[in-house]
Amino acid sequence: MIELLAIGDELLLGETVDTNSAWIARCLAAEGIAVQRVTAVGDDIAAIRAALDSALRRCRVVICTGGLGPTPDDMTRHAVAALYDRRLVVDETWIDVLQERHRRRGIAMPERNRVQAERPDGALLLPNELGSAPGVAIDDDARGLTILLPGVPLEVRGLMEAQVLPLLRARLVVAGRIESRLVRTVGIAEASLAERIADIEEHIVPLKLAFLPHGTGVDLRFTGSSDAVERLFDGILARLRERIGDHIYACDGTDLATVVGGMLRDRGLTLALAESCTGGLVARRLTDAPGASDYLLAGFITYSNEAKQDLIGVDAGTLATYGAVSDACAREMAEGARRVGRADVGVAITGVAGPGGGSEEKPVGTVWIAVAAPAGTETRHFIIAGDRTAIRERAGQAALDLLRRVLRGTRSG
Ligand code: ATP
Ligand code: MG
Repeated sequence: MIELLAIGDELLLGETVDTNSAWIARCLAAEGIAVQRVTAVGDDIAAIRAALDSALRRCRVVICTGGLGPTPDDMTRHAVAALYDRRLVVDETWIDVLQERHRRRGIAMPERNRVQAERPDGALLLPNELGSAPGVAIDDDARGLTILLPGVPLEVRGLMEAQVLPLLRARLVVAGRIESRLVRTVGIAEASLAERIADIEEHIVPLKLAFLPHGTGVDLRFTGSSDAVERLFDGILARLRERIGDHIYACDGTDLATVVGGMLRDRGLTLALAESCTGGLVARRLTDAPGASDYLLAGFITYSNEAKQDLIGVDAGTLATYGAVSDACAREMAEGARRVGRADVGVAITGVAGPGGGSEEKPVGTVWIAVAAPAGTETRHFIIAGDRTAIRERAGQAALDLLRRVLRGTRSG
């Protein structure tokens, strides 16, 4: 087991997100090394020392990042030397490396850089190919192993791969690799999902299940040793399909727009869009996938009533009687996009994204979606919660989901 300690005032101010710890944790997990805890502290010698001390007491191997720079606010070396009760000594071989690098660039080495060649007496230097601060590994029987890495993310990655992993592999008894699989769902809330699949918990042991809700759906992540994932995942997926099959759209990280694009391609169908409140968001998502020109022919952003009439032939009477956010308008938009875009399928979205523009009858979040296919037109009504961004994103996701459901009823080929 390992703990990670991220050091730097910028982390506590929220200016920098601790991506170093996330990256190191993923890298260790892939090696079968479990991270037990991640901590962040500021550039404060007492705080660093205390955090490192308690982390070492818990698990005896700690990787720190940050605070190895040449400026006075970088105190990690001092804190560690004090904790291990060692002096700081200058590593002359690293001074030579730095001087040689400067010589090649034709500049003199700043005196300040000497600080970065300091290490606690008896510690090992981990040469850094990508920066001036080397990593440091310090080990003793009483406290355990501490590894110091600089803060710059690129240097962290370089040092982890070249220096730290070989060192840890030699030292730790490494368990099997850890893997996870993602099952992506749409159109079902986290709580209902949990209820519907409650009884699969007993069939997934020793895998761990995490619910990951993200605004446009809930992902289920199954994690465990490669062996267990290999052995159990297909069975788990079969059980999930029995219970929530119509909500599952991917068994890997694929986006819904990519899934739907693949379905269109498989069926040899083309698509045209008419977007109002989403303003092109669905077109953007579909065209994020390379090769979208195989199926996407056109997208109409028909924001005004006039554009709905002039571009895709929505009836003036429909707009006057039912308004732009209505079953009838969504239907005519989808059918118009299909006709004018000369596509097999038309998809339309019209709604009130807010924050203004809502009424008693059509509150903010009211969205109508339509899919016009050769077999007929389907519409759906939603009242979506959230702010403007959330409403637009969820409306787009709901449209793609309705398209997916319609396409499932159409045979491939
Ligand atoms: P340097 O030798 O460059 O001074 P350092 O060891 O002193 O390195 P810091 O000054 O703490 O490192 O950080 C250098 C850069 O790396 C900064 O831009 C900082 O925002 C970024 N950084 C530091 N810690 C992290 C972290 N945990 N996650 C992501 N980025 C980080
Ligand atoms: Mg710093």
